Amino acid sequence: MRVFFLFLASMLCGAFSCSTGFASDLILIHAKVYTSPVEKSLEDATIVIHDGQIRAVGPSKTTKGPHFARLVTVVDCTGMTVTAGLWNSHVHIFNAGLLHADQVPASQLTSQLDSMLTRWGFTTVFDTGSLLGNTNVIRKRIDDGEVKGPRILTVGEPFYAKGGIPVYVEPFLEENHIQLPTISSSAEAVERVKQQVNDGADGIKIFAGSIEADGVHIMPLDMAKAIVTEAHRLGRPILVHPSNEQGVEVALQSGADILAHVAPMSGPWTPALIERMKTAHTGLIPTLTLFDVEAKKAHASPEENQMWIDAAVQQLRAYSAAGGQILFGTDVGYTDHYDTTEEYVLMSKAGMTFAQILASLTTNPAERFGRSSHSGGIAKGMDADLTVFDGDPSTDIKVFSKVRYTVRDGKIIYQAHPSR
Ligand SMILES: [Zn+2]
Repeated sequence: MRVFFLFLASMLCGAFSCSTGFASDLILIHAKVYTSPVEKSLEDATIVIHDGQIRAVGPSKTTKGPHFARLVTVVDCTGMTVTAGLWNSHVHIFNAGLLHADQVPASQLTSQLDSMLTRWGFTTVFDTGSLLGNTNVIRKRIDDGEVKGPRILTVGEPFYAKGGIPVYVEPFLEENHIQLPTISSSAEAVERVKQQVNDGADGIKIFAGSIEADGVHIMPLDMAKAIVTEAHRLGRPILVHPSNEQGVEVALQSGADILAHVAPMSGPWTPALIERMKTAHTGLIPTLTLFDVEAKKAHASPEENQMWIDAAVQQLRAYSAAGGQILFGTDVGYTDHYDTTEEYVLMSKAGMTFAQILASLTTNPAERFGRSSHSGGIAKGMDADLTVFDGDPSTDIKVFSKVRYTVRDGKIIYQAHPSR
C-alpha cells in the first residue's frame, strides 16, 4: 500500500510537473549530496522530508519514502547537487521594494526576496541593518506563509555614534523620509540595546568606523565596550562595520564577535593582527564583491579598482589560511548586485577550497549563531533547509550560484524555470 501511494505520488508529480506547495512531504531522489563540508559526497542519494524535517538521507537504492500514506512531491535530482540550505550572513532587508511592508502586496515582497535572496539559494539570512519594525512585519508575513522567503535574523537599526551615519546611506534615507537614530553616550547606547533586543533583534550592529565626507568617524571605544557588554549579557552577537584599521581595533578591543566586512583601507593584515583575531574567535564576513561594486560606483580607474579587490582578497586569504572563521555574505539590499557568482570566484582566489566555502555558507554560520544542532547540515532530524544546484560546485565554484531549487522547512520556496 505504502509503495502504491509513493508510486501514485510520483505519477501525479510527473503529470502535474511537481507543483510546489501541493504536498507537505518532499523526496529528493538521485542527487549528489554533501551532507556536510567535511564528509565525502553521497552519489545517487535520496533525501526524505516530512513536516519540515529531514527524516532520512542515504543511497537511493535503500532509502525509501515515508511510512505513511499521503501525497508526496518527488523531485528527480539527476545531474544536481544538494547541500544544506545556504546562509547569507550580511544582507539588508532595507531597500525600496521592502519598505512599508505592512502595506505592500505579498507578491511584491515575495518577488523582491526572490530576486535578492531565494533564487541564489539562501534559506537563512542575517540582516545587518534595517528598520526593525518593518523587518518584523516581513518576518511575520513569511512565517504566516503569505510571503515566500528565507528565515530572517536581524539586528534592526544599526548603532551609529553621533555624526556617524555613513555618507553613502544618506541619499537613500532622505529619498525615503527615514531618520535613523544615533547615540551620544554609553548609557543611551545600553538602553537602546535593551530596547532593540526586547523588540526582537537577534544581534547588534555597530559602526566602529563610519565613512564620512571628511574621513572615517570612529566610535569611542568606551561606547563600543558598553554596547558589547550589554548585548553579550542578553546573549546577542555583535557585528561590526570596521572601515579602517582604527575600526578593526575598536572591534577587537571592545570584544565584538564579527567583522561584517574586510577592511581594504586598513592595508594588508599582519600575522600579529590575524593572530589576535583568531585568539578572539572573530568571525569574518568578507563581502569582497562590495569593494568592486563601490570602486565602479566611484568611477575608480581599472588599476585602482583592482587594487581594492586585491587588498580585500589578501585579508580574506590571510584569515582563512590561519583557520579563522569565515561567514559568507554579500551586503545585498545595500548593493543591488544580487548575483553571487563573483563572490565565489573571489573567495576561491583568496585560496578557499570548495569545502571551506561550503562551510562559510552552512556550518560556520550555524555554529556562530547557535543553531548547529538543527541547521547547517543534512542528517536525520535536521531542519529541511536545502539548496539544490544544477551541476556540482566542487568541480566548478560558479555552480554555487546556479540554483535549481531552494527548500526551506521542507517547502520549495524557489524553483528555477526549467529552461534556465
Ligand atoms: Zn551592509
